[in-house]
Amino acid sequence: MSKMIPTSVYGDYMVRATAAAGQVRAFALTSRDLAEAARLAHGTAPTASAALGRTLSGTLMMNQALVKQDDGLLTVRFDGDGPLGTVLATADHSGNVKGYVQNPETDLPRKSDRHLDVGSAVGRGTLTVLRDLDGGNTYNGQVLIHSGEIADDLTHYFVESEQIPTSIGLGVLVQPDGSIRRAGGFLLQLMPFAEESVISRLEENLGKVRSVTQMLEDEMTPEDLLAEILRGLDPEWTDRLPVRFYCNCTEDRVRRALILLGPEELDSMIAEDHDFELACRFCGKKYSFRPEDLREIRAQI
Ligand SMILES: [Zn+2]
Repeated sequence: MSKMIPTSVYGDYMVRATAAAGQVRAFALTSRDLAEAARLAHGTAPTASAALGRTLSGTLMMNQALVKQDDGLLTVRFDGDGPLGTVLATADHSGNVKGYVQNPETDLPRKSDRHLDVGSAVGRGTLTVLRDLDGGNTYNGQVLIHSGEIADDLTHYFVESEQIPTSIGLGVLVQPDGSIRRAGGFLLQLMPFAEESVISRLEENLGKVRSVTQMLEDEMTPEDLLAEILRGLDPEWTDRLPVRFYCNCTEDRVRRALILLGPEELDSMIAEDHDFELACRFCGKKYSFRPEDLREIRAQI
């Protein structure tokens, strides 16, 4: 029997590092394949693909930064007044992430710098971060959306809600045919005991680095990205984790969602006497229910 190799079938992965003898904590990832899997799952237009890809990448790193338990989930939700509607991603601690945008067809004209206008597509509103702890207890943090550009908002979340000095960079490069060419990002955090010289060196480095998409376009790996950002701060690699777009939905979960619709709604669906197809909100997978299936579900209430 061949041995199972515990690695992603895709090429995406995240690295974790510390620098300046533990005064800086850092994460970086390449996430092209998972951003493309999400695009294909939801049929997103370019602006929506960028918003979702950035959110998926950011959520994966935030889980590693904020969740302690191996089974802990972290969810990031943007509820903005822009055309995208809600943008949501949930990551587990093993490198799996799923998510969606409410209006996947959203596509806005590019900004004058040719970047996709994610900020206008998200709009203004609230950013909520939920942590599922010990199987059920959730911890909620909420801040106002700052720019809607995702990385900027997640950075503000850390500063305002968690009081941790943080810098996040995220990038998604969409090809003319709509597919994802590059995706990735980084997350840096200063520990409370960080010295002034470390802070100023990090600020100096961050002032010099190019955008995430430019660095990825130069074939830089997550390790290269952190080596550049942490230059002069003696980075040490501590971990490497494969990451992927993965949904754990099952027919049973969808059945339970149908039960939650309640007897009246189910009765009216049964009365229509035709097959119903329900798609998982997170991955687009379709589940089909015949009238007899619906009657069976109705009988369980
Ligand atoms: Zn699903």
